[in-house]
Amino acid sequence: MTRPVYVHDLDGLAAHVRTVRAALPRPVELLYAVKANPDPGVLRTLAPVVDGFETASRGELRRMAEVLPGRVPAAYAGPGKTDEDLAAALAAGVDRIHVESPAELRRLGALAIAAGTSARVLLRVNLPVDAPGASLVMGGGPSPFGMDPADAVECVRHPPAGVEVRGVHAHLASGLDAPLAGAVAAAVVRWSVAEVGAAEVDVGGGMAVDYADPTARFDWVGYGRALADVLDAHPGLRLRIEPGRSVTAYCGAYLAEVVDVKRSHGEWFVVVEGGTHHLRTPAAKGHPQPFTVHRRQDADGPRTDGGPVTVVGQLCTPKDILSRSTAAGPIGVGDVLVFAMAGAYAWNISHRDFLLHEPPEFRTGDPHRVAAEWAARPSRS
Ligand SMILES: *Cc1c(COP(=O)(O)O)cnc(C)c1O
Repeated sequence: MTRPVYVHDLDGLAAHVRTVRAALPRPVELLYAVKANPDPGVLRTLAPVVDGFETASRGELRRMAEVLPGRVPAAYAGPGKTDEDLAAALAAGVDRIHVESPAELRRLGALAIAAGTSARVLLRVNLPVDAPGASLVMGGGPSPFGMDPADAVECVRHPPAGVEVRGVHAHLASGLDAPLAGAVAAAVVRWSVAEVGAAEVDVGGGMAVDYADPTARFDWVGYGRALADVLDAHPGLRLRIEPGRSVTAYCGAYLAEVVDVKRSHGEWFVVVEGGTHHLRTPAAKGHPQPFTVHRRQDADGPRTDGGPVTVVGQLCTPKDILSRSTAAGPIGVGDVLVFAMAGAYAWNISHRDFLLHEPPEFRTGDPHRVAAEWAARPSRS
């Protein structure tokens, strides 16, 4: 086995999502944003713990129907929904359709009437949120996502036939730490209740994942306390969150074997079989993907001197950089690298057809056990 392998640690994922659920006050509905990782095993593992799934395409609706038949998606979202998309969401009985513009709301109403039903809707609003204690102002600027506050107020005052506007959806930013995410949630709810009398608010996802520290976790307990305060201030409110990355990032690893190491003008390069056509996350986010090294047991090829390395893949582009490290130690041909935090926005966002390399294999289990067995076998077998 030399082909790269994705390993999903589903036991670890189950434990992690249970911790997240336990940190949130019970009335808060925890939805999982399917776009972060729609792997069937991941969806099945999350299903008993999360309150629902947020979908954003007909493909995701199909995936849900195949993997979790009978489980009606909690939300259908996303910009640029066609009539076919909206009709599919209605036909699937999706609990809430998140509407992005006044024109989309009118089209949805007409489709619902034609289907003999009515659509339960949250309006996605692009709110200027000035979170107390944070210098950051999010939303409120020009954006393809959501509608302006004044348009939302108008949609609530004069809704088109065929829709029931139940409240507000806001997904304003990503990479929020818990105090900031809590402040944003409170501000979104304040606006929604005060300006459109919302009975339901979905405050989105975007909880921070720190790729520089694979052991760090978003402070779900602190965030849960902030949401409890929000519920105390607005009794009877139906409150939803829809994280993706912070749920599944930790459960995936990408394993790749070193095929070459070399020095170029004074710097060490490590070339693996694989690359960003399988794991685009570091290229998309502009970070070095954290990795550990399993040394090839029968190694007799060249090794780096233990100094800084750049880890690259097999693509003929200088952008195919998986990682950089100053602390990885010597790395040699045949070693197996385990790239951690590859469970969200990883394989599913990768340009898998670029250069037409073979796809990776997929396994479940403990990535380090798989890597250790791989590194113990004779090279290139
Ligand atoms: C992508 C997305 C999410 C999930 O965001 P994460 O950063 O993965 O938590 C939630 N809601 C909407 C509307 C999104 O587009």
